[in-house]
Amino acid sequence: MSVNQQAHTGLPYGQPQPGYQGYQQSGYGGQQMPAVHHSQYGAYNGPMPGYQQPAPPPGYFPSLGFPSKGSPVCLNSDTPILAPNFIGALRAPPPSGAPPPTSGAPVPAGQPVYSQFGQGDVQNGIGASAVQMQRPSASQPFIPGTAPTPVSQPATFQQYGPPPTSAQQLTNHMAGMQIGTSSSAPPPAGLGYGSSTSVPSASGSFTATGSGHYTPYSSSQGPPPVNVSHGLPPTSLSPNLSLGQPAFSGPPMSAQHPPQASGFVSPPCSTGIGPSSYPSTTGAPRPSTMQGSPLPGHALTGLPTSQPNHVSSPPPHPAMSGPPPGPPVLGLQGPPPPTHPSPSGYQMQQNGSFGQVRGPQPNYGGSYPGTPNYGSQPAPPPPPKRLDPDSIPSPIQVIEDDRNNRGSEPFITGVRGQVPPLVTTNFLVKDQGNASPRYIRCTSYNIPCTSDMAKQSQVPLAAVIKPLATLPTDETPPYLVDHGEPGPIRCNRCKAYMCPFMQFIEGGRRFQCCFCSCVTEVPPHYFQHLDHTGRRVDFYDRPELSLGSYEFLATASYCKNNKFPNPPAFIFMIDVSYNAVKSGLVRLICEELKSLLDYLPREGSIEESAIRVGFVTYNKVLHFYNVKSSLAQPQMMVVSDVADMFVPLLDGFLVNVNESRTVIVSLLDQIPEMFADTRETETVFAPVIQAGMEALKAAECAGKLFIFHTSLPIAEAPGKLKNRDDRKLINTDKEKTLFQPQTSFYSNLAKDCVAQGCCVDLFLFPNQYLDVATLGVVPYQTGGSIYKYAYFQLETDQERFLNDLRRDVQKEVGFDAVMRVRTSTGIRATDFFGAFYMSNTTDVELAGLDCDKTITVEFKHDDKLSEDSGALLQCALLYTSCAGQRRLRIHNLSLNCCTQLADLYRNCETDTLINYLAKFAYRGVLNNPVKTVRDTLINQCAQILACYRKNCASPSSAGQLILPECMKLLPVYLNCVLKSDVLQPGADVTTDDRAYIRQLVSSMDVAETNVFFYPRLLPLSKVDIDSDTLPAAIRNSEERLSKGDLYLLENGLNIFVWVGVNVQQSLIQNLFGVSSFSSISSTLSTLPVLENSFSKRVRSIIDMFQSQRSRYMKLIIVKQEDKLEMLFKHFLVEDKSMSGGASYVDFLCHMHKEIRQLLS
Ligand SMILES: [Zn+2]
Repeated sequence: MSVNQQAHTGLPYGQPQPGYQGYQQSGYGGQQMPAVHHSQYGAYNGPMPGYQQPAPPPGYFPSLGFPSKGSPVCLNSDTPILAPNFIGALRAPPPSGAPPPTSGAPVPAGQPVYSQFGQGDVQNGIGASAVQMQRPSASQPFIPGTAPTPVSQPATFQQYGPPPTSAQQLTNHMAGMQIGTSSSAPPPAGLGYGSSTSVPSASGSFTATGSGHYTPYSSSQGPPPVNVSHGLPPTSLSPNLSLGQPAFSGPPMSAQHPPQASGFVSPPCSTGIGPSSYPSTTGAPRPSTMQGSPLPGHALTGLPTSQPNHVSSPPPHPAMSGPPPGPPVLGLQGPPPPTHPSPSGYQMQQNGSFGQVRGPQPNYGGSYPGTPNYGSQPAPPPPPKRLDPDSIPSPIQVIEDDRNNRGSEPFITGVRGQVPPLVTTNFLVKDQGNASPRYIRCTSYNIPCTSDMAKQSQVPLAAVIKPLATLPTDETPPYLVDHGEPGPIRCNRCKAYMCPFMQFIEGGRRFQCCFCSCVTEVPPHYFQHLDHTGRRVDFYDRPELSLGSYEFLATASYCKNNKFPNPPAFIFMIDVSYNAVKSGLVRLICEELKSLLDYLPREGSIEESAIRVGFVTYNKVLHFYNVKSSLAQPQMMVVSDVADMFVPLLDGFLVNVNESRTVIVSLLDQIPEMFADTRETETVFAPVIQAGMEALKAAECAGKLFIFHTSLPIAEAPGKLKNRDDRKLINTDKEKTLFQPQTSFYSNLAKDCVAQGCCVDLFLFPNQYLDVATLGVVPYQTGGSIYKYAYFQLETDQERFLNDLRRDVQKEVGFDAVMRVRTSTGIRATDFFGAFYMSNTTDVELAGLDCDKTITVEFKHDDKLSEDSGALLQCALLYTSCAGQRRLRIHNLSLNCCTQLADLYRNCETDTLINYLAKFAYRGVLNNPVKTVRDTLINQCAQILACYRKNCASPSSAGQLILPECMKLLPVYLNCVLKSDVLQPGADVTTDDRAYIRQLVSSMDVAETNVFFYPRLLPLSKVDIDSDTLPAAIRNSEERLSKGDLYLLENGLNIFVWVGVNVQQSLIQNLFGVSSFSSISSTLSTLPVLENSFSKRVRSIIDMFQSQRSRYMKLIIVKQEDKLEMLFKHFLVEDKSMSGGASYVDFLCHMHKEIRQLLS
């Protein structure tokens, strides 16, 4: 069902359901469909007495600017590029106590066992051939009439069906089990969807404050005509530039990292790239393009030193009336400030240069990535001066400033085109007609009126939308509006939903669409008089007239086949092959499910979840379980013909947890025993998904599959895969194939799943390559999630896995969803990024969409926009709730439009821009060489900044780098994207890691990409144990670390605790419970629970971080100078990376060079 179509009953929902129309389960058949609203959403149908403050009138407020966003950052430099001083890439060493592969195979020497994702390629101990197991005989005929498959299909119904290896044992365990062959189909379920009774909701009492906070901004004179050429060839530093080569026979390592640890040495042929590929890097020459000749007027600009970490605003210039005058231009180059303790510049870092000594890092040496391959030109002598890191824009400062300036007042959404506070700022949102930034964030809140302007600026126009975002408890969830039988009011032409921007005319008898201008009759039941301002008198009584976000109860015409949906189902599908059993995983999952099943998602105050559950185990064959409540014991049915998957039982497969509790608990007790002695190592995968999807189809419901899987599916079956991992492809034109699925089979399967509303969540526990790029296709295209626990070990990983599982099972999900984004005339949605499927160019289809998933939408002009009317977005999500209710969630957002480029640059949001750029790049690697993707990104950002320089900044020396205030962090964040594992992998990053990260980032929201690319780093010695306030974060650079301190670093996937060698003994004692640095175990996966205030406070900070992220982060203890420190340094993203990624300073110089090239 397309969101924009009424009562559309045809495809794609019209799959035939032969023989299953009447399928009904006792567990839910008689159950009344909830015909009530759920208090969670406070059914909305009445006046809201407390809701009084005026919302924006349909006509808009004048454009208001945000004062701090106006002043550009100005950096003055032809910064000397430093001679490369490259440290050979090192493999992450195996930590002491590294987890051995669960199969017991030895870890090859030098094999990285911990990477940041805990990856490595280790062979399983048991070869497949050694454990060839006898397949169960398909001896018992399938009973026709009970399954949607031909009778001839061999199903083996077994009393204690022969488990792969030990039928006898199974018989012992499951004696008394009966073969379930119930074939009686219950009568059709009554569709219990009456029109709901609406209850007036308690409404929040909002106060209209805050907008006065913003200083009106008036754009003055326009910029001169600009001539930035478009379509410039990708920036190329050097034709033979080699990016991110992992293995590298480098120059002698710096004194700080002597090659003492054998684990640091690249193992032979780990990448297939021999040392000979690299010229010696000692003194490697720089490409000539990096050596811009100094321009007059820029040299030796003094650095203001009074504001460390702070980049001041430039002087006001003609194009920007209004910004407060700032301190003088900052120089990117010039002598270090006098206050600088280490002015001598760029010498090698000495031992112990942590902390206060501001000596340069060894990693700073290389200029822009590619250092090792800079050819044979002799290197110029290292210039004596370098950029002072304190003089360049600091993410920490920007984050702190925003927190201080905008964290105290609520963000009120009544004003069009307001830039919200940063994602790192805690703030309260009050909906007064536009969607909260928790639902929608934009790259710019003021978009160019014409496509020419947009092209000139190269600023992508995109919105990052999180339709089902969880709100803080002090914000009101969207109200549910019930218009009864007629359904929501929509524009006749474009089908946009009623919203605050629709204009009522003719005394309220008609309304004009704010998206397409079409005039539509107001249906009699919806008629209301207008007040003297032309506003309906029930304006404040109706969320769809006064709020940015709300929900409509959908009518039958929004449902498949015009039938209200059944409640969704969850199917748990557990790999019971050797590795899964041996590692304790199967037992762990079964134990956890016993209690977790009591926490299935419920709607509002309904006591019992409407979600039914089913269970499957599998290795080379599939085992279905009948857990019907009337059974004394569960029954197993084995399907060994995986080539043509079917579901051997209907009645008793999907059940209500409470009704079948005894049988379910019995099953979960028995599964680990049944397979305890299995020798089966091979698995199938595609048939597992097919089975789950068929089961949902048979039950006529949407739902989610939770698949727990351990290995590459090499067993003979559809979707069988081969190991095609080949790291030699890195940095070749074929690198993209590493991200592509190896067969189209899974794409087709995903399509079928989407049609059924079957969302797949995949929990992976690999001990070696299992081709995430291919296995991830179905989860990705069905809106599901992938979790990966490499070298899963019960002791260290179970907490993380169980937390992820609990959250995944409990979180809010919309099923069988379709999302459509409408826009006002002039722009339209042209591109979409995220985990979903699209069968046409407009409808985003999501078998499931959970509260953590975002969809990034890009917009392009198709006509002119006007400053008066601005631009509007409306995101409509049609979905089935966890109780089976069909709903529409609507989010509206109004943006300003501008004819002056300065207005665009003043209202941008760099965090959102980076979210878009990362997703754009990560999709690009599917079809392009990675280097091309990187060059495209750099070029686009250089054009963005060059356009600003040319059109918005005051005339100044070409040697100055001038950045727009709102985008002053673009270079540092862009560099983090460029050196991320997908675009520039280190030697320890596996192919599966990269595919995993690529998919993960694709559905991240802005807060997640922000911390993922620029991790949060906190000094623990500054923690105030008596306050809830966090210490100020510090920049991600080794030179900011003190060896006398402890630090916490989080990036959304991992939390590191870094311990300096000189940390006070008392702190070590308090945090780790040991007496000395050397006694700290780096294999801890949690901090010990100690009864002292420091320990309590640090653990509570970690808990808070965990609760803020959608995944449970892995805790890794890193001792300074320990082997694991290499891994930690990977996240010090302002430094040069081991894989060749540039330092922030060097990258900024490079961007400057690129910009100057564009301008000249
Ligand atoms: Zn319309």
